[in-house]
Amino acid sequence: MSATGTSEDPVGDGTRAVRAGLPEPVKHEPTLPGPVFAAHFHLPGEVSGPYSYGRDDNPTWTLLENAIGELEAPGRADVETLVFASGMAAISAVLFSQVRAGDAVVLPSDGYQALPLVRAQLEAYGVEVRTAPTGRDAQLEVLEGARLLWIESPSNPGLDVCDIRRLAVAAHAQGTLVAVDNTLATPLGQRPLALGADFAVASGTKQLTGHGDVLLGYVAGRDAEVMAAVRRWRKIVGAIPGPMESWLAHRSIATLQLRVDRQNATALAVAEALRQRPEVSGLRYPGLPGDPAHTVASRQMRRYGCVVSFTLSTRARAERFLAALRLVEDATSFGGVRSTAERRARWGGDAVPEGFIRMSVGAEDPEDLVADILRALDESAD
Ligand SMILES: *Cc1c(COP(=O)(O)O)cnc(C)c1O
Repeated sequence: MSATGTSEDPVGDGTRAVRAGLPEPVKHEPTLPGPVFAAHFHLPGEVSGPYSYGRDDNPTWTLLENAIGELEAPGRADVETLVFASGMAAISAVLFSQVRAGDAVVLPSDGYQALPLVRAQLEAYGVEVRTAPTGRDAQLEVLEGARLLWIESPSNPGLDVCDIRRLAVAAHAQGTLVAVDNTLATPLGQRPLALGADFAVASGTKQLTGHGDVLLGYVAGRDAEVMAAVRRWRKIVGAIPGPMESWLAHRSIATLQLRVDRQNATALAVAEALRQRPEVSGLRYPGLPGDPAHTVASRQMRRYGCVVSFTLSTRARAERFLAALRLVEDATSFGGVRSTAERRARWGGDAVPEGFIRMSVGAEDPEDLVADILRALDESAD
């Protein structure tokens, strides 16, 4: 958990987060300029950049893209970042701009619940989709000849981890592109581009913005030609974020290090408390020593996320537990300052037991939260 600067990294994460993407100060102007609401920009004469039409570019996006780029790849001018209307818009932009009929793609079999829909769409377009579970680098067995490897580490909701550097080396040796869904880790937890990936892709809806009030996504990539195709996809599909959402996201990034450090430390405390409880099985948190993912996670992650998952004996027990919680809302999504939890099997689609709970740890006082969880476990006992 490095907080302060090192030689490769001249400033700490908190310093970087509060200043990320800010323009040079202008006298009598706010530090972070307000959202620019514009469908079109004044454009006399010849068509010229940077701003002409609001589906192509917007000054509020530019500042946010700079901010995310600084966090995903500090000090790297070769990395380009593009923001999207949602995480799914960003994911689809990478996949559908890069693959063609006849290509093969490797997706996680235990990844985000919308990936099976993406799979069906890719297959409808004549793309061969192979899947492999995230843990133990099982992707290596199905990589041969693939155009693109899609990694989700840690995976949602199972919190498995794979060795990104190892997979990227194997993929690049045969010309396969590598994209990493960095939603769960956030750029303060993991830097996929430094680990060798071609793309860091994420939903900004979760911990990046952290208040449960914005949908957003982004793609950061290091190859200009490849990123030009992603940009073209954004233009033709039009899955663009609103200026207000973009501005809210940028404002929220200023507190990213505070939120992530607090929430992740409390997530570890919650996991440690749950580990003592006999009615809890299948407990997963990559930051917990002894977790199956911990060894690999500690090599490639700088922080371990705010999500803890575990299983209670039955659906009824899990429902009683969720209803008994007072400080944790029964809600989907994760990463917000208010803790949430849900019985994941209620959605269908994830291969999880009926009593499986995904808990997102917020910014409440850790003692209050742990006490609430232990009380709810007691009250929901069979
Ligand atoms: C939520 C999520 C997404 C999708 O993001 P949206 O902003 O909801 O479109 C993608 N990947 C992961 C890992 C997620 O948790």
